[in-house]
Amino acid sequence: MDLVFTQQPNTIFDVMSGLARQTGAINLGQGFPDSDGPEDIRAEAARALMQSSNQYPPMYGLPELRAAIAEHYGRFQGIALDPTAETFVTSGATEALAAAILGLVAPGDEVILIQPLYDAYLPLVLKAGGIPKLVRQTPPEWRIDREALEAACSPKTRYLVFNNPQNPTGRNFSYDELKVVADFCAAHDIVAISDEVWEHVTFDGGAFTSLLAMPGMRERRVKIGSAGKMFSLTGWKIGLVCAAPPLMNAALKAHQFLTFTTPPNLQRAVAYGLGKEESYFSALRNRFQHGRDRLSAGLESIGFAPLASEGTYFLGVDLQQSGIPMTDKDFCLTLVKEFGIASIPFSAFYAADPVTNVVRLCFAKSDETLDNALEKLAKAKAALR
Ligand code: PMP
Repeated sequence: MDLVFTQQPNTIFDVMSGLARQTGAINLGQGFPDSDGPEDIRAEAARALMQSSNQYPPMYGLPELRAAIAEHYGRFQGIALDPTAETFVTSGATEALAAAILGLVAPGDEVILIQPLYDAYLPLVLKAGGIPKLVRQTPPEWRIDREALEAACSPKTRYLVFNNPQNPTGRNFSYDELKVVADFCAAHDIVAISDEVWEHVTFDGGAFTSLLAMPGMRERRVKIGSAGKMFSLTGWKIGLVCAAPPLMNAALKAHQFLTFTTPPNLQRAVAYGLGKEESYFSALRNRFQHGRDRLSAGLESIGFAPLASEGTYFLGVDLQQSGIPMTDKDFCLTLVKEFGIASIPFSAFYAADPVTNVVRLCFAKSDETLDNALEKLAKAKAALR
């Protein structure tokens, strides 16, 4: 019997959210904002629900959404996409990852995974019969360099799963680092499956560059986006896939048997949302940057050592640098059970040789929630040092 999925424990996000519910803790573990996304987008979904068809939409996604995806990335990333040949819609980025990995990776193919890694990558690669080759990043800079990529590479290496901006580190990789990745892929004819769900959540004016826009990557690249992250509607689960036709067709073969399609009313509303002006997206960045600054400054003022966060909803806290002699897992369990805060240990994002001194906190919360959390964290800091 194939136990790839059944052998997996429940994800750490589930475990910590469960403990947060049981104990009434403030949940800075799982990444979701505590207010809902734009009212006009939700109104458009409601309108579509009542006035448009609720029957199966096309497997590729609604034509208006695929046109909106092409328009959006043309406008924001300068990528010219053919909506019918190079875009399709999935039920969340999670399904897009599954479709890309199950559709492309053949048994025996080696797949480079960069740790810390988003939890879906490894089980999907294993399920596809792929052989994971791990590259390890370390704090505080979490840089990717060519030597580490080369060391993980062999003639059997066909794919690299890349995540930028990166969960959980909060890295928005520099152009130079992206070039290292792009050159590496070109040199070894490697296809990059690029998880860019956080593309609009970047800070300090740092531009996000899609790997698809890098020279030499157009034919070697599957780009994955998530409307949930673009519009602070994480429960909507609308994934956006862009890829050259041969890659897209391989992923579609898996998509047709995974979900086949995605609720049409939400697709209509996302098509509307993708057309929003730059000012919407800059306001989004400012809002989450404000949360990052508030949590980061608050943590420093009570003696914790927060790490930099250039994007996503997350920042890391270095326990060692904070003078807390505990592993990340022990700290997270103590924090949720005794001090009323749920967080996520970074070691959960490693398949081997984990970094064990960093925990992830979500700052996509109201000022009030963050301030309440900081009060509890101050108590923890005083007790655990
Ligand atoms: N990839 C990464 C890196 C993520 O952080 C997330 C959500 N936390 C996903 C994929 C899943 O996105 P979705 O909710 O659209 O399935």
